[in-house]
Amino acid sequence: MAISSESAAGTMQEKSLAGTGSWMFSGPLIMIFCLAALVPFVTNDYWVLIATRAAIYWVLVGALNLVIGFAGQLAIGYVALLTLGAYTTSVLVAGNVSPPVPVFGALAIAGVAGAIFGVIVGLPALRLRTFYFAISTLGFATIITQIALAWQSVTGGGIGLPGPEMPAPFHTHAGFYFLCLTAAGLITWMTANIAHSRFGRGLIAVRDADVAAEATGIRKARLLMTIFVFTGASAAIAGGLFAALQTYITPDAFTFDLSVLFFISVLIGGRGSILGPLLGTVILTLLPEFAAPLAAWSTFLYAVLLLVIVLVAPGGIAALLDFGNRRVLRANRTIVPKAALVGHLLATDKAKSGIALRGVVLSFLGVRAIDGVDLDVEAGKIHGLIGPNGSGKTTILNVISGFYGPEAGSIALGGEALKPGDSESRASQGIARTFQTPRIVGEASVLQNVMIGGTIRGQSTFVESLFCLPRHRGDERTLRSEAMTALSAVGLESLADIRADRLQHSELRFMEIARACMARPAFILLDEPAAGLSADEILRLGQFLKAISRQGTGVLLVEHHADLIFDICDYVTVLNLGRVLAQGTPAEIRVHKEVISAYLGG
Ligand code: ADP
Ligand code: MG
Repeated sequence: MAISSESAAGTMQEKSLAGTGSWMFSGPLIMIFCLAALVPFVTNDYWVLIATRAAIYWVLVGALNLVIGFAGQLAIGYVALLTLGAYTTSVLVAGNVSPPVPVFGALAIAGVAGAIFGVIVGLPALRLRTFYFAISTLGFATIITQIALAWQSVTGGGIGLPGPEMPAPFHTHAGFYFLCLTAAGLITWMTANIAHSRFGRGLIAVRDADVAAEATGIRKARLLMTIFVFTGASAAIAGGLFAALQTYITPDAFTFDLSVLFFISVLIGGRGSILGPLLGTVILTLLPEFAAPLAAWSTFLYAVLLLVIVLVAPGGIAALLDFGNRRVLRANRTIVPKAALVGHLLATDKAKSGIALRGVVLSFLGVRAIDGVDLDVEAGKIHGLIGPNGSGKTTILNVISGFYGPEAGSIALGGEALKPGDSESRASQGIARTFQTPRIVGEASVLQNVMIGGTIRGQSTFVESLFCLPRHRGDERTLRSEAMTALSAVGLESLADIRADRLQHSELRFMEIARACMARPAFILLDEPAAGLSADEILRLGQFLKAISRQGTGVLLVEHHADLIFDICDYVTVLNLGRVLAQGTPAEIRVHKEVISAYLGG
């Protein structure tokens, strides 16, 4: 049995690897760059210049795509970083503040300055809501321009200063173009590597399912800051190249229009895609050229284009090109989990002895949602938590998973107190969970959603992932194959490549369970996993949860289906108005007088 199920999982993995292998993603990108490399040979210097500009913009937009398209942060003022890079490079090469620095040295210094400034621009994102963050990035753009204007002795003020002159062989139009194209290719490759790493998946999780991201151990602040460093450095280097292209820079060169162009390139490209924003950048750079008489109307054109995209294709170019997800899915799908595969998912040697709540109290607006609850969840056992709506079940899960700190009482795991309110640490401490309303990344594939659950088990650092080094490749291989096993175990393997928002509600519940298993948890907290499932599916869910507990993993099961609870639980706690009404084995609870009158409706 074990052998056959293992080989079944193996076949699934191979199938998925073929379906979502990196070549599928990089094919069109490689083609675009091959075509771009032909530009100097088939056109004149004018078009080489335009193509150079597109390549430089992409160095900035490609990185900014991680901030806007992946992390969902509305950074609209990124012209600030372009300006910073352009001035830093030009000033250093001109020798206005130090002995003249060679161009590539100046570009590197600009990159460092951009990384630092990128973090400063990004910091408000950790505190401000999206819209206010957008405005704050605009504020930075204004500040940089004002400094460039005011600091005349260094920047030349309104008169400006010459851009850096490139050394041979980059001093010709074609030479400089190939330099910029190489930088653009490098950015594409690096962002694609990040997109297909735990960091990229972390970003989309933060964007679309921040609560689930926390519960899987994704550290939002650290992740966003890392991305801001990378984006700031790339944008400033783009600025240095931009200054070289312009040959002479003044503050006027860095208009708000440019910021809008960067932002809209990502939006019309589509969130969470690399090909889309690349095409978006190329289209927006070329648009004024083809509509030369309308050049003065470029902002207007952008606005119209944006409106058309939002109204006609809200997913942007990427969604238009996403042919795979047009395939019609079979209706009336039923889920058949394979409990036999659970052994491959969860480790058996769990040292954690149990979760213990003592006298936990939590109020909302003076109303006690939980009022002195004691609860013990043991390893390898299924503990049912039942009670009427509003009795505090979800709140207890939220306290255990660190979303709320209790006012009184304690929570311990294996005898050690759990830090209240520290939700991002729970996954690494061995506690995973699902949600009453599934928290998913709708635009990502089912497989990616499940891989998000394995974030904490990744080994590679951001830099290793950026350059696709061996540890990154190892991480991806392991996570992908384990996620396929998890999907096979919950019976969703045939939907691995489908966008998660196309799944039925019941399938999302199983997808969340697969995601929770990816962290190899010692305890799984499930919030009404049977809601919306058919009677058959509930039976199979019960078998599956039993298989999980047999592996040594403790299960805390919040449920309304009394049959499921009494069928599979080792122990049951009944809540009423935030207090424990009864605790005991299913047999004891079933005949408990108060429970029958208050809840079971006997
Ligand atoms: P259950 O999951 O058992 O249906 P909950 O734990 O969701 O119940 O809610 C328990 C009580 O706490 C309810 O009265 C609910 O209105 C209240 N509550 C839960 N979360 C919040 C919150 N974030 N803000 C205010 N009240 C809340
Ligand atoms: Mg609830």
